[in-house]
Amino acid sequence: RAAHYARLRDLPANTRDGESVRLMMNAGLLLDMQHLHDSGADGIGLYRTELPFMARSSLPDVEAQTQLYRKILDQAAGKPVVFRSLDVGGDKILPYWNPYDEDNPALGWRSIRITLDRPAVMRHQLRALLRAASGRELRIMFPMIAEVAELVQARRVLDLEIEHERQSGNQLPVVIKVGTMLEVPALAFQLDALLPLVDFVSIGSNDLAQFLFAVDRGNPRISERYDPLAPAMLSFIKSVADKCTAAGVPLSVCGEMAGRPLEAMSLIACGVHILSVSSPSIGPVKTMIRSLEVGPLRAYLATLLRLPDRSLRDKLKAFAIDHG
Ligand code: PEP
Ligand code: MG
Repeated sequence: RAAHYARLRDLPANTRDGESVRLMMNAGLLLDMQHLHDSGADGIGLYRTELPFMARSSLPDVEAQTQLYRKILDQAAGKPVVFRSLDVGGDKILPYWNPYDEDNPALGWRSIRITLDRPAVMRHQLRALLRAASGRELRIMFPMIAEVAELVQARRVLDLEIEHERQSGNQLPVVIKVGTMLEVPALAFQLDALLPLVDFVSIGSNDLAQFLFAVDRGNPRISERYDPLAPAMLSFIKSVADKCTAAGVPLSVCGEMAGRPLEAMSLIACGVHILSVSSPSIGPVKTMIRSLEVGPLRAYLATLLRLPDRSLRDKLKAFAIDHG
């Protein structure tokens, strides 16, 4: 198998009927970066910047962050890297920075809500990213955006930092692409206002499933109760994909869902053409893509989405087996 995936590394992630998928990798540690090249991923579709924050005893300063982000970009050697701004709170707790006891941390003061309320933290991180990407391309994505106004506010902080760097005479990145995660269902109802403001959108299927089904992602008693291959979840994603396609805004899925072959197959049928998955999933997902005929699946899925089933897993699996 290992040899098989090694041969696969340099082959394109194209379906049998000629749709191409960009297969990106999720990362969160410098250590992960070695897999970017041996897996043959097209880039880092999600760099979770909070892990280094969680591994230390205090917030890293601008200089420490700059050095880390620069190393990441160096190791990417020109492949794109999407840095996600600090996404702490909820299930990701900073040991030294947990000021409130909350009844519902997943719905609480977390992620972009913290960094918009504590703009110095966000500004330091964005400054470090701008410096690390000086003279290169920088991609930044903001997590847990629930409404367009939050994206606008985060962008304003970025613009302040860009201006700050310019005034300081520092060389800026040659291109700065700004995107949003879509993890909170409410944002999907503001796509007309949102899409003109972003360069890309990435669905975080872990949090999205949590909020769409109102099910705690970390509670083993119920986290298995709903299937991401439910008509509701796939219809939701398809409707987002249709709008992004119409607006010409690239859409990816970067939650764990994208890394499982049957789920990845279903996402492609929904019209998602960028998947960001953990490094061990690159080989299995690429193998699936190269054996997939997406045309007939897409037609079949359209009929499945109208069913009252709890899960489409068995039907999708049967389709996958019947079609090789
Ligand atoms: C997600 O929610 O799907 C996601 C990719 O972000 P995280 O798992 O880091 O919350
Ligand atoms: Mg998330």
